[in-house]
Amino acid sequence: MRPRLHSLIFVCMALGVIAGLLLGLVEDKSGEGFTTTIRWLDFVGKTLFIGALKMIIAPLILASIVAGVTSIPTFHDAGRIGIRTLAYYMITTTIAVAVGLALVLIIRPGDRGGAESMRAQRTAQLAERRVEFQAETGLDAAAAAPQYLTWLASREGRGQSEQYERVVAKRDRSTFDMFVDDIVAPMLDNPFHALATRNSLGIIFFALLLALACAAMGAPAKPVVDFFQAMNLVILKITQWLMAFSPIAVMCLMASLTATQGPEVFETLGWYCGTVVGGIAIHVVILLTICALVGRMNPITFLRGIREAWAVAFATRSSAATLPVTVRCVTEKLGISQKVANFTLPVGATVNMDGTALYEGVAVIFLIQIYGGMDDVGITLAGGAILVIFITAVLASVGAAAVPDAGLVTMVLVATAVHLPVYYLPFIFAVDALLDMFRTSTNVMGDAVGAVVVDRFEREGAT
Ligand code: ASP
Repeated sequence: MRPRLHSLIFVCMALGVIAGLLLGLVEDKSGEGFTTTIRWLDFVGKTLFIGALKMIIAPLILASIVAGVTSIPTFHDAGRIGIRTLAYYMITTTIAVAVGLALVLIIRPGDRGGAESMRAQRTAQLAERRVEFQAETGLDAAAAAPQYLTWLASREGRGQSEQYERVVAKRDRSTFDMFVDDIVAPMLDNPFHALATRNSLGIIFFALLLALACAAMGAPAKPVVDFFQAMNLVILKITQWLMAFSPIAVMCLMASLTATQGPEVFETLGWYCGTVVGGIAIHVVILLTICALVGRMNPITFLRGIREAWAVAFATRSSAATLPVTVRCVTEKLGISQKVANFTLPVGATVNMDGTALYEGVAVIFLIQIYGGMDDVGITLAGGAILVIFITAVLASVGAAAVPDAGLVTMVLVATAVHLPVYYLPFIFAVDALLDMFRTSTNVMGDAVGAVVVDRFEREGAT
């Protein structure tokens, strides 16, 4: 008997972790052998597999939304599905942030274990910085606090990683600028440019417009509708082919990540990682409860149906790259209607990120717990600051692109809202890739539960 695809994926995932750990142990990480092996693993996992998935995302979003919306009988029904979907996304994202904040405030990872040594290191570093400041400017840091803080901001940014550069590029913009640059402008992008650059907001907006225009025109637009309906099925076929290759790809992705990150990153940031993963576990239970009570689907059936999507999300760390697999699992294995899945999943992959929202709140509060009260971090965790973190974490998750590390970049919004200098963010970069696996798989699970819930209401409404 041939082993089932999902079993193979999970076995290969475990093999990848073991291979990665062994590789990290036996090979010198700066040596030629290690670098060459990682290059090959990344070639198979990232260049070939993620590359192939990314190749079909843009046409998939366009075709699936047009196909989905045009299969909804009336404008009124389309509006209802849209409102239900967005309501579900808003509610679950808010729950996710609340879970994360409650947990980080109860566990207080910033007062435990490795956090103590992070604080001590930073205190020593700041003492050095004050001496450097005095040597460079002739001023005393305490007496010339504003100058010192400005100097520190430019000094701390120097020579940081490429991720940090991306974070800094997002700093110093007003909320209005962010709204215009990150939401309105991408939505009104030229559709061909949006497709070429995988600008999901632009593709979704154009697809909705196209679908609504087709629906308004009726018969004359039928060839366009038929084309996108067929295109949608064709892309699902390509996804099916790609999935045959997924066990090997997942193994390579896991091996590369475990070898380069290693379990040692958990040591100093163990409590922090534990809080994020614990919060995500609680949120997953909440999602499954919603699936059972609101979506009326047995959680075991649900988990069985989406396990391939979950595993691909975990290994690729991209909800967008996983989208073709999610659509396939939800429609073929869970029997969710095309009209619901084709609308809820692409929109969900773009705006609904429960794991990311939870993580953003936990991360910023964790950093304030450790560094609050230092020379350059004048904030405390009062009620007002927590509320600001709550709101901005939701917004940052909506704004995060569905690609690896995106949550880290949009965290700048949360950090700056409570005046946490952004140069503190790199302190948690080391564990970001590992936590990204957990949050991305939760993001995808949240979208799938959304499809189940909306589909149930649609089915009941139709009977
Ligand atoms: N990687 C996540 C996703 O694709 C976004 C994030 O970085 O939180 O869903």
